[in-house]
Order: sequence, then structure tokens, then C-alpha cells
Amino acid sequence: MSFPLPPAFVSRLQHDLGSDEALALQNALQTNPPISIRHNPHKFFPNNPHLSLTNAVPWCDKAYYLAQRPLFTADPLFHAACYYVQEAASMFLAHIWQQFISSLETVCVLDACAAPGGKSTLLASLLNKQSCLVSNEVVRPRANVLAENMTKWGSTNTFVTCNTPQDLGKLHNFFDVIVIDAPCSGEGMFRKDPAAIQEWTSQSNAFCSQRQRHIVADLYPCLANNGYLIYSTCTFSKQENEDIVRYLVENYAMTCLQIPLLPEWNIIESQETLPTGENIFGYHFYPHLTTGEGFFVACLQKTAEEYPTTKSKNKNKNPQKNTTSLSLAQQKSYLSNYLAPADDFVPLMDGDTLFAIPQCLQNVAQTVMQSLYCLKKGIEIGTLKGKDLVPSVGVALSHCISPTLPRIALSQAQAIAYLRREEVVLPDACPIGWCLVQYEGHCLGWIKVLSSGRCNNYYPTHWKIRMNIEV
Ligand code: SAM
Repeated sequence: MSFPLPPAFVSRLQHDLGSDEALALQNALQTNPPISIRHNPHKFFPNNPHLSLTNAVPWCDKAYYLAQRPLFTADPLFHAACYYVQEAASMFLAHIWQQFISSLETVCVLDACAAPGGKSTLLASLLNKQSCLVSNEVVRPRANVLAENMTKWGSTNTFVTCNTPQDLGKLHNFFDVIVIDAPCSGEGMFRKDPAAIQEWTSQSNAFCSQRQRHIVADLYPCLANNGYLIYSTCTFSKQENEDIVRYLVENYAMTCLQIPLLPEWNIIESQETLPTGENIFGYHFYPHLTTGEGFFVACLQKTAEEYPTTKSKNKNKNPQKNTTSLSLAQQKSYLSNYLAPADDFVPLMDGDTLFAIPQCLQNVAQTVMQSLYCLKKGIEIGTLKGKDLVPSVGVALSHCISPTLPRIALSQAQAIAYLRREEVVLPDACPIGWCLVQYEGHCLGWIKVLSSGRCNNYYPTHWKIRMNIEV
């Protein structure tokens, strides 16, 4: 169902774009949104009859438009995070990365407003093994969804936190790249999410602009000198877009970068020269010109170090948080059992839960865990229950799950039953004990096979499919 566009919004579009462009944009907002997906580069992509792939998204590798929207919930490979459903304009982040960041050896990246995880899953796919990503979301229920999506994506070098921009800002000069996909008035989502039309008022732009200034100002101190700040919104409003970029250039040691484009992409560059002679550049995706939703992005670079750098406290101490009944040798032995290659990781106990952190990220992990409220750290291996370690779904879905662990292949109907947390009827000869379940070669989680031949389903309750699905 589409709602009429607010008259104040339409007259602002006419003022900003001229009446012909404004009309073309309004017409585009009445059409069905295009659907696009992005493959997980660390999980192979089997032939998938659920997805009718058409053209490639031109500015992002391994991303495709679909001919129609399938019922993603009915596809076990969606739950295995073989792909992420993301609107195409947002994937332009991949192009910015290729232009400015991919040549850097190691980077510590913050995605400051990250839920539900579209940009974070893309960033995780772009990082090399020595680099890391902190995906943060301030709203707790949304942070839980972010943690779920990042766990499923399976990267080993990602953390999920739930903090305010002020908390993050205290980590002076810590991040080499900060992505601020700011909360906004959502005008670019009007056709995808009609509720955004109803929430919009003529005060929305001013209110959001004020909040966006606070967010960028709070986060600025945690950007390293020469670091990149990528600012984006899904709105057309200059108050929330160019005005924020100008605010950063005028008030902070920041310069705005021009992003090379191909003309056939139809992305509109806005350029303004400030009285100081500096230029600011912004990039607009309009649904009547590009196949995607409304989107704005700008890329800035910090040009001076202004704050004393935050040092990792207790830098050389073992980052164990609590005393634990597992010796270091036992922890390492669990890592060898579950991970391949295990030597790349160090164990970390938090209470009764065992995590694996990439060796090269120990110091980063320590600072993040000491300074922020962390919901995901590296790979969660399992939780001690008595003398047993109950394996976590995080390790099952990770890129580094050992290929030698026992596993059972499920049909689509069995996989859906498993994801609904129902009883799974197993084939006759199943190994007793902990077993991975797979669909089309991709792990979904754990079951425990009992001596009776039955099994207990360990798919997380809060992730289970609640919808009825006919297979
Ligand atoms: N980057 C996400 C993605 O690609 O999936 C979408 C992020 S959404 C546009 C903006 C996020 O900012 C929301 O999850 C919202 O909860 C969060 N947010 C709201 N108010 C905020 C604030 N004051 N400071 C920081 N983040 C805020």
C-alpha cells in the first residue's frame, strides 16, 4: 500500500531539484523497490533456486539484483548467511573502500550506527585478516539483531558493541575508518517502508540534522589522524546531508574527498566551494536515476591529530576477565578441536564462555572489551556446563569451523524444521554426541544426537523461525 507523499516534502523537492526532476523522483517513489543481494565471499555460493539473479550491481563485487522478491525466510542459505539482502545504493561503500582504503595494510574500522548490519556485513567482507571491525549500535534490541547478523556472517575479526557515540569518542585516535550511517528522516526509503512517510513531519529534517551534528562531533575524537570518515544517510534533505559535511569541514580538521564515478552509474555529485576555498563533495542516489533506494554519501579525511592517543590499558596482560575452571591448555585444546587453522587464534574466557580471538588482534580486543559493552567478540566457541563445553552457534557459522567435525546433511524440509527449533528426524547412521547440521554444504548450527537415535536441537531460541513455511 502506498501513502501520498507529504506536501511539504514535495515542495522542498521542487525547490531543491526543479519541478521536472522532482516529478520524476515522486513517480519513482510510487513504483516497487528493486531487490538486491550480496554474496558472502567467505562462504561458497551454491546454485540457489530461491534467487532469480539478474544484473550485477555495478559498484559492488558479488552483488546482484533479483527479478522478484522470494520468501527469504524459507531459504536455509539465507539463515546460513551465504548472502545478505541489501539495497543496492548502500553497497557503494565497496567502491569508496576500493578508492581510498583497500591499499592500507591494516585498518581498525568502526561502523558507529550499524544495526541491522547491512554496511557491517559488507565491511567485514572487505577487511583483510589483520584488520578488524567494531560494529556498534546504541539501541539495545537493535544491537541484538546486529550481533545475530554478524555472528551468522561468520567473520572472525569482528566485534559488536552497544555504546553511545560519546562512549566511542573516548577511544582517542583509535579507528582508521569510521562509517556513520546516521539515523535520518528516511525519505529515500519512502517506497520500501511506507511507515517512514507517516513518521515524516516538516520538522523531521531539522531534528535529524541536529542529532547528526551531535553524533559526528561525538565520534570525531576517535578517528585517527589521516583516518577516513564515511558519512551517509538514506534521505534527500540537504540539511541532513551537505550541511553536516560542511559542518565537519568548517569546524574540524577535515577535508572532503572527491570520489571517482562512472557516468553510466547516474550518481549525482554535488559540489560546493566554501569561502576558505575548500570544496565539499556529496554523492546522491536518486531512485529515478539509479536502481536502488535514495541514498547520500560523502567521504572525508582527518588532517590533524588533536587528542592524546588512548593507550590500551594492561597492554601485556592476558585479557582473561574472570577466573575459570578451564586451564589455558584445555582452552587451547578446545580451539584446536573446533577451528582450522587453530594457531591463528588465542583463547579468551569471559565467565564460563570461551572465545577465540585472532592472534594479531589481541591488543585491539583488549581495548574494545575494557572500554565498551561488547556483545560479540571474535568467535564464540562454547559455554561450560558442568564439565562439558556446549558448542556455540557462532563457531558453527564461522569461516574457520574445522572440517573434521562430525556433520549431517539436511534436506530443505529438515533444515526448516531445524531452524524452527523443531525435532529433526535423522537418518539411521548418525554419530552420537555433538554434530553440526548442514544444508547444501553450509553449517546451520548444532544438534546433540542421543543414544536412542533421537536428537536435541540446539538452534538458539531467539533466532528461530516463527513463521509457518510450506516446503
Ligand atoms: N548501517 C545500518 C545498516 O546498513 O544496516 C543502518 C543504520 S540506521 C540508518 C541508523 C542507526 O542509528 C539505527 O540503527 C538507529 O538505532 C541508530 N541510532 C539512533 N539514534 C542514534 C544516536 N543518537 N546515536 C547513534 N546511533 C543512533
